[in-house]
Formats: sequence, structure tokens, C-alpha cells
Amino acid sequence: MSSIPPLTSKEAIALEQHYGADNYHPLPVVLERGEGVFVWDLEGKRYYDFLSAYSAVNQGHCHPKIIDALVTQAKTLTLTSRAFHNDALGQFEKYACQRFGFEKLLPMNTGAEAVETALKIARKWAYDVKGISENKAEIIVCVNNFHGRTTSIISFSNDPVARTNFGPYTEGFLSIPYDDVQALETVLKHNTNVAAFLVEPIQGEAGVYVPSPDYLQKAKALCEFYNVLFIADEIQTGIARTGRLLATCGRCECTDNICNNTPEVKPDILILGKALSGGAYPVSAVLSSHAIMKVITPGSHGSTFGGNPIAARVAIAALDVVKHEKLALNAEVLGQLFREKLNAYISKSKQVALVRGKGLLNAIVINSSPESRTALDICLALKDNGLLAKPTHGNIIRFAPPLVITRSQLLEGVSIIIRTLDIFENKRIE
Ligand SMILES: *Cc1c(COP(=O)(O)O)cnc(C)c1O
Repeated sequence: MSSIPPLTSKEAIALEQHYGADNYHPLPVVLERGEGVFVWDLEGKRYYDFLSAYSAVNQGHCHPKIIDALVTQAKTLTLTSRAFHNDALGQFEKYACQRFGFEKLLPMNTGAEAVETALKIARKWAYDVKGISENKAEIIVCVNNFHGRTTSIISFSNDPVARTNFGPYTEGFLSIPYDDVQALETVLKHNTNVAAFLVEPIQGEAGVYVPSPDYLQKAKALCEFYNVLFIADEIQTGIARTGRLLATCGRCECTDNICNNTPEVKPDILILGKALSGGAYPVSAVLSSHAIMKVITPGSHGSTFGGNPIAARVAIAALDVVKHEKLALNAEVLGQLFREKLNAYISKSKQVALVRGKGLLNAIVINSSPESRTALDICLALKDNGLLAKPTHGNIIRFAPPLVITRSQLLEGVSIIIRTLDIFENKRIE
């Protein structure tokens, strides 16, 4: 390797700005190292990571068991393509199917690819099995969804920045308000060509919108009644983030008994990504039944890297960590503590309107217009105080630390957040 001279944070940012496409607006911090809930910048300053790479590092940065699996497999065999079998893929497929309660798995790499895969399966199922006439299948989606960045996926986004001037758009999507069972029923009643309903159990990117407790259950029942596939995009909510293994699911690795009174809403198609690899490698997957997955036949779908042996070993290790370290239980317990502490602060605050969320996927809403800079300024101040978070939409700040966080670390994070909010409480300028 050619020797690369060490950089300052300023230099690293300047390089990205000069040579990189401008498709993100990162906070001005350059990270060099991570371990557990912490990351360090080039100058050696330590931060609590309260974003967790959008919930991809639920297991914490550089978890030794996941990195071991990655390195060991990387030294043995990295990629075969699916032209041949490899000895890791089947083991991962069996492990994930049994763990999540499905019969078949289709491996991909990024979240958006897995969403695309699910859409393709649903359409093909509509024609092959349900008997919808060719090119007529519709898929119902929700307003303010986030499912990724491909051309088809942004075709059914209503975010103007994600969408404008990327047309022509893919057809065949019907949009309804989120958390509105009546709207779903109306669309289903009036359209006989619906293949599927695609939904996030909690709308993460939109600002951590938690639907009514019975929403998913009722939506699933309607889908069953109208013979429509219920597709859950759990790329952000899955893998213990919301206090259970899946947000749609009673499966909390039930020895911990935290899933009491949370009925399972079993999706027909489940989409996973992000923390499926603990952030060590891009791994995504679509899980379903024999009856649905059988519409995929040789040549009808694929990916050069999908199902590669590194991905398979990393995902098994990442899922093992979630179980052995009881991360669902930790997310449930510490999530309650987080909201309790912030609610106590908010009751006396003019600055913060509310905190909402489930498990360790939470957000606060700042009392200012979505166009104001306040949430960004708060995130910049949080950074100075040693905690990293990012606004989602304008005046909403998401807090999603790695699930390996301890009680005392969480309390320290909360005290940084409250101390920082307090500064803004007194100097509100908009
Ligand atoms: C992040 C995310 C995606 C897209 O995943 P990528 O790996 O960025 O393509 C899709 N759906 C949801 C709910 C997500 O949070």
C-alpha cells in the first residue's frame, strides 16, 4: 500500500468537498475509530454515537465477534458468485429463517436492493399466483415513506428533494396516509389489482413516527382479507432496535418475556438490512414463505455479491451477538429509561415539544419551524459536548445509540443531551 500522510479533520473534509459528490450534508466531524458505543475523531476526541449509522451498528462499533467472522472468512473465501455454491450461504439462510420464523431467504447487499427485490417478488406473485392481468399490479405505499434511493423506490417517495428531476418514474404505486387503516381499506375495496402493501413498522427517516398500537395488526388482517401481501420494511426497525427482534413481531427471544401483550404481526415478506451485519459489511435479505418465494426462478433475479460467504458469516455472527447479549431486552429497558428522563426534562421545557419512539429508536421534536436551523445547531452543540446525532426532518432529532449501551452510558448520554438543550432553552434565536 502506498503511504498516505495523516490528515487533520479540516483536510479530510476539504478532500471530500473537492473530490466527492455533494449528496450528503454531514456534521463537520471526521471519524477514525470506533468501539462499542464510542467513535473517535482524527484529533482523538471521543463521542457517543447516538445515530449508529442509521441503526446499522446496533451491535456496537467493531464488535469483536463480528469482526472475527469477517476477517476469518475474508482470509478463506470472499466471493464465488451464485454461479457456484459456497459453504456459508446455506447456513446463513437456515439460521435466519429459523430465527425470524420464515421458510425462504433471498440474500442481497443493500437495503434498497432488498426493497426492490421484495417489490419484484410481489409483482410476480400478483401475476403468477393471484392472477392479476399483465402490467396491472399495484403496490400500496405510505405517505412520508423511506425505502431507499433507487429509481423505482424514489418513484413512490413524496420527498421533493429525493424525487425532483429524477423522472420518468416507475408506475404501479398507490400512496395512502400512514397509520390510517380506513385509507387502506378504501384502497383495497376499490382496487382489485393490488399485489402488496409495503410499510415501515415505525417511519424512521420521516421522524420516528410510531403508529397506533393496533395499526399493523389491522393492516395485516385487511391484507389477508383482500389477498394482498403484507411487506414489512424492517431495515431500520429490525434486529432488536425497537426492543424486540422485529418491530412486527412478538419474537423477543422470549426467555426475557418482554413481548408480553405484543401480538405478532407476521409479514408475508420481511425486508432486513443495516444491523443484519452489525455495520461490518453490506448485507440485506428478503424472507418469505415457500408459496411466495417460489415465483422466483433461476435467472429471474440475482446479484453478483448477494449471498457471498463473507456476508453470510458476518450476518450469522451479528445475529448471534443480538441473542447472546440480549440486545432486544436492553433496547426495551433503556429505551423506557431514555423517554422517562427526557419527558421529565420536556415537562419544564419551552424548547422541546415531545419525545417519541420505541426501544432505542427515539426522536425529540424541537419547538421551531421545520425550516429553522435550530435542530442542526443543537446537533452541532451536541457534537461539541461529545455526542453525535443528526436531525431527520428539519426540527426532529433522532437518538438511536448502539444497543450494547449500558445503563450508565445511557444516563451520561442523556445528561449531555439535556445539558445541551438547556443552553438553547435560554438563547432561542430563530
Ligand atoms: C436505510 C433504509 C433503507 C435503505 O437502505 P440502504 O442500505 O441505504 O439502501 C430502506 N428502508 C428503510 C426503512 C431504511 O431505514
